[in-house]
Amino acid sequence: MDKKVILITGGAGFIGSNFIHYMMKKHPEYEIVNLDKLTYAGNLENLKGVDDKPNYHFVKGDIANRELIEHIFERFSPIYVVNFAAESHVDRSIEGPEIFIKTNVYGTHVLLDVAKEYWQKDGMYDFARFLQISTDEVYGSLPLESDEKFTEESPLKPNSPYSASKAGADLLCRAYYITYGMPVIITRSSNNFGPRQYPEKLIPLTIKRALEGKPIPVYGDGQNVRDWLYVEDNCEAIDLVLHKGRIGEIYNIGGGNEWKNIDLVNLICEILSELTVRPVEEYKRLITFVKDRPGHDRRYALSIEKIKRELGWRPKAEFKYSLRKTVRLYLEKII
Ligand code: NAD
Repeated sequence: MDKKVILITGGAGFIGSNFIHYMMKKHPEYEIVNLDKLTYAGNLENLKGVDDKPNYHFVKGDIANRELIEHIFERFSPIYVVNFAAESHVDRSIEGPEIFIKTNVYGTHVLLDVAKEYWQKDGMYDFARFLQISTDEVYGSLPLESDEKFTEESPLKPNSPYSASKAGADLLCRAYYITYGMPVIITRSSNNFGPRQYPEKLIPLTIKRALEGKPIPVYGDGQNVRDWLYVEDNCEAIDLVLHKGRIGEIYNIGGGNEWKNIDLVNLICEILSELTVRPVEEYKRLITFVKDRPGHDRRYALSIEKIKRELGWRPKAEFKYSLRKTVRLYLEKII
């Protein structure tokens, strides 16, 4: 094989675009094909700086379009598939689950199936890899008052249509590995933050609303806990799993950084106050508790012992420093 081609799906979204920037820098010898449907969450601006490189190719399209996926395999012969493409917002999945099933479950099935046929036919099973990007949300929720963490062996207990669709995709990946020997690996990460995130998610939404002087919504009592992972740490872990992870395995990727939503929103207000030299109360008075999301998971926490032990990975980013950097970036973009 003279050149390595990676098919990255959903590469115009938040994590996918960060991963493309990361890979173009770390592995300039690879060819990258970015397949993205450009939904509301996809933005080609996220690829600025890499989109003019000769080893970067963009294809606009749907992972659920079998003909298109077959065409991409014929034309580019990818040896790696990294599937980020998904509908990813829990609130939207509660309002309209169908597109989540179409993209996250059926779309993953199409990718798996075409990759299987192509790699089988061309004898590529020995070195090709299909990496499914999944989420800690497939494990469901932990009680607030416990130190328990989800391991890769924890049962799947998804609570939202979003997490159920991601769990469905994970199970298909497992079945393709067990039944057809497909070289599949799954990563499940906690909540990511960093540059290029669509402002419907907690951190960019809080910054945007605060700067616009609009109410900053916080669900329920604000006590829900999330484990925050800097997106660059996730990209490094995904790269490592892609190259060194064991086939058929699942790897949790967490930040070891649990924050209650209300504490995080307060911290963002404090950072904004410092950066804009305005009184913190100007931002904090905008915090508005709103009716809780149905089925809102209380706490997520991931054990990352497996990826530490097997691949020597651990998150590097210092949380408050990276959050400050992120807030500054959004500030520069918005103002
Ligand atoms: P995102 O919503 O920012 O981006 C998703 C991208 O996928 C967009 O560019 C969109 O246009 C594209 N897309 C959607 N449907 C498509 C389709 N049918 N065909 C092709 N492209 C399509 O999502 P994100 O936050 O970057 O998440 C990426 C992946 O990581 C998802 O699979 C998500 O489940 C997973 N994940 C995200 C987080 C997080 O904190 N953001 C945490 C854990 C796991």
